[in-house]
Amino acid sequence: MKKNNNSTKYLFVTGGVISSLGKGIISSSLARLLLSRGFRVTIQKFDPYINIDPGTLNPYEHGECYVTIDGHEADLDLGHYERFTNIATTKANNVTTGRIYRDVIEKERHGEYLGKTVQIVPHITDEIKNNILKLGETGDYDFVITEIGGTVGDIESTPFLEAVRQLKWELGKDAMVIHLTYVPFIKAAGELKTKPTQHSVKQLQQTGIQPDILVLRTEKEIPENVCKKVAQFCNVDTRAVVQSVDAQTIYDVPLLMHAQHLDEIVLEKSGLSTKKIPDLIEWNLFLNKLKNATEYINIALVGKYVELQDAYKSISEALCHASAYCDRKLNLISLHSEKINEENVKNYLKDVDGVVIAPGFGKRGIEGKITAIRYCRENDVPTFGICLGMQCMTIEFARNVLGWQDADSKEMNPETKYPVIDLMEDQKNISDLGGTMRLGAYSCQLEPNSKVASAYGKFEIKERHRHRYEFNSEYIDKFEEAGMKCVGRNPDTGLVEVIEIPTLQWFIGTQYHPEYQSTVLKPNPLFLSFIDAAKKFRGEK
Ligand code: GLN
Repeated sequence: MKKNNNSTKYLFVTGGVISSLGKGIISSSLARLLLSRGFRVTIQKFDPYINIDPGTLNPYEHGECYVTIDGHEADLDLGHYERFTNIATTKANNVTTGRIYRDVIEKERHGEYLGKTVQIVPHITDEIKNNILKLGETGDYDFVITEIGGTVGDIESTPFLEAVRQLKWELGKDAMVIHLTYVPFIKAAGELKTKPTQHSVKQLQQTGIQPDILVLRTEKEIPENVCKKVAQFCNVDTRAVVQSVDAQTIYDVPLLMHAQHLDEIVLEKSGLSTKKIPDLIEWNLFLNKLKNATEYINIALVGKYVELQDAYKSISEALCHASAYCDRKLNLISLHSEKINEENVKNYLKDVDGVVIAPGFGKRGIEGKITAIRYCRENDVPTFGICLGMQCMTIEFARNVLGWQDADSKEMNPETKYPVIDLMEDQKNISDLGGTMRLGAYSCQLEPNSKVASAYGKFEIKERHRHRYEFNSEYIDKFEEAGMKCVGRNPDTGLVEVIEIPTLQWFIGTQYHPEYQSTVLKPNPLFLSFIDAAKKFRGEK
């Protein structure tokens, strides 16, 4: 048996039947409950795809790309982990098949396998196991929750499940598997069907893994006798079959899981005390605000991926947190930037209380963003530009205020006479796309009299970045003379990180992504300030 020196408990969350059941939300909810009982918890995600990280995947493939403080481009589930736990993740919290294979191949090239044939078992599975145990070995955690991406039965998942099987054997009661499945409601028969769950558990058992707990995702309440039947068929305690019914908000899920004793069952099975009940006071405070707000706030999100539910996940969640704390019900209006033009922009924006200009890459949809920004600037609508959104605010100002018609970002037009957004010096010779942007948390010094400084309530902040291009410092004086101020700068490089037009109510662009650091218990100050401005703007109408 593997010696588990610091008695960290390893909880594995697997999925069956179909994808998109919300393993990330269940993992995050369980983490929230254990944290609220005073345990030290971290969550990590193991993704079975071959990409080294999701940084090169487009939003159609993979939704939003999340960024950790240490500059790792990560799965969007890490965003959920942070929003629920309020604890920053790092590169160690997200591992892909690509990284596992790369590391094994590098070791083979260094001769570390001493002439052995390198195989999936034991070499790949050992590498997976080492990565799974890494965070636990720091001694910093009582629980390490590991979400295994994909569904049981996927070819790609096989080595991960084999690693989980081995660890479960080696760690004994310090390891536990929670399997999430789907119980569909068949309308024509008027029945909930458990057969897919039974099959999925069988498939998991075939890999040698007996789940300890089953979480059944369902749109309709599952009666007790049906849960009992599942328990019997799957060799799981009846109490350990819990259901996850569609919730009003994802932030309800910790409470729904607690009501069914999920946290208690995990503690009992781990041999730990269940005496201390979870302190969910602050969590409930947020939920009450979220649910009891009656007045709406209408925020438009202008981007080119708005039809994809997950493409701007962190932004919509950050807006949700801020609106709740400002006692408003968020009405998020998704506007496709490609559809916006000078004729229709007024129609689209005349009734909104605030506009967010989304981040992004490439030329598509840029002109629509610039048209929306012009309308907002000329009509003093609260406007929040994030990354590419901030760059578009700069371009719009250059074209329509400074009168440089040709002004552009070098990303969109390499030949422009006025490259107001340009490639950073250290980016000029980079040709690889993966993991080579300016990534992760950087310090930013804020101008004392700026709106952004009063929003944060301090002059030095740290936020996360993901971009290649920058505000071109050569033009700072011209912009400032004309009324757009550079109010946030990197203290080491002088790079412009925040712009604002102080004469307008709220017109701020950030080169960084404040949305990555908004959590339920700690909403991002800039989003709070933006919603507050939108509230005032609405009041004035
Ligand atoms: N495409 C822009 C850049 O690389 C902005 C990136 C973004 O919005 N995340 O600088």
